[in-house]
Order: sequence, then structure tokens, then C-alpha cells
Amino acid sequence: MGIKGLAICSDNKVYKNINKTYIVRKIEKKIHRLQRQVSRKYENNKKGKEYVKTSNIIKLEKQIQLMHRRLANIRNNYLHKTTTSIVKTKPYRVVIEDLAVSNMMKNKHLSKAIAKQGFYEFRRQLEYKCKFRGIELVIADRWYPSSKTCSQCGEIKKDLKLKDRLYNCKCGLSIDRDLNASINLSKYKLA
Ligand SMILES: [Zn+2]
Repeated sequence: MGIKGLAICSDNKVYKNINKTYIVRKIEKKIHRLQRQVSRKYENNKKGKEYVKTSNIIKLEKQIQLMHRRLANIRNNYLHKTTTSIVKTKPYRVVIEDLAVSNMMKNKHLSKAIAKQGFYEFRRQLEYKCKFRGIELVIADRWYPSSKTCSQCGEIKKDLKLKDRLYNCKCGLSIDRDLNASINLSKYKLA
């Protein structure tokens, strides 16, 4: 799972990050604009120290609420589309990484993007959809070096940075870092 894409699978299928699409960005901008309008209206209608809710403000706040709901629906529908598509490829098992300890969670700038992606909801959906179809779902051990290991020769690159998008190995392999990690996860063996 990632920020660039929502999910990168070992069969090279990439499910994009919906938050980078035009429609989501447009709605987010609109919410931002409406919120600025509302706070301006609150300031302008202030009676002494008291904030007053005018009918205009109520109207705008309703609009904001609606936009938030639309966004939540788009994100949730997309998660469902993705998790269903994954289980429909009929794998005998699915291995995913332990999110709570993934590198991304430690990064403050990324935590907001992660919240928008809904990784936990993604995992919850995958869990019950796998169970329903008799697919084994494995959460890889938190210490499993899925990103740092070369999926071709097994060499471990200790100095791999989060910004390194390409995994280059001495053995000659040059591969997208997320695809490399997903191939390693697909070969994951329980201790
Ligand atoms: Zn290698």
C-alpha cells in the first residue's frame, strides 16, 4: 500500500490514489472556498463578542456538509471497487503489510495523505471479503523488510530511503520500489 497509488500488487496491477484525481481535488477546493466564506460571514455578523448564525451561514454549512459526504462516498466506493477487484483475481492468499508500523506512518507529512486513503478501511474490507471467499489473508510481520529486500536475489539494502522510487540492486535488477515490495510480500513465509 502506498501514497502514489492506493495498492500496488505483485501482478503489477496498480490501483491509483483517488485523492489525486481531478474530481476529488475539485470538491476539496470547493469545500475550502466555502469554509473561507463561512468564517468571513461569521466575522462580519459578529454582535459584540458573540458569533451569530445567519440563514446564509446555515445554508453554506449545509452545502459544506453535503460536499464532505460526497467525498466520503467517492472514497468509500473506490475502496470497495478496489478490494472487490483484488479478491476477484482469485488468489489463494493475500499478503499485506502491517500498516501501523509502515515507514509512511512515521512521516508527519504523509499521515494526512494516509488518513485520506483510508488504509484501515481498506484492510477491514479486504479482511471480510477474503474470509467470505475462503482466501487466506496474511498480515506480514512488522520486521519483514519488504521494501529493502531485492525481490530477485534477496540482498537487503539497508540505506533505502523513502524518496527512492526505484530499487536498484547490484544483481542488475532495477524495479519500482512498491512493485519490488509487493513481490517480496507475495513470497512472504510465516515464521
Ligand atoms: Zn538483487
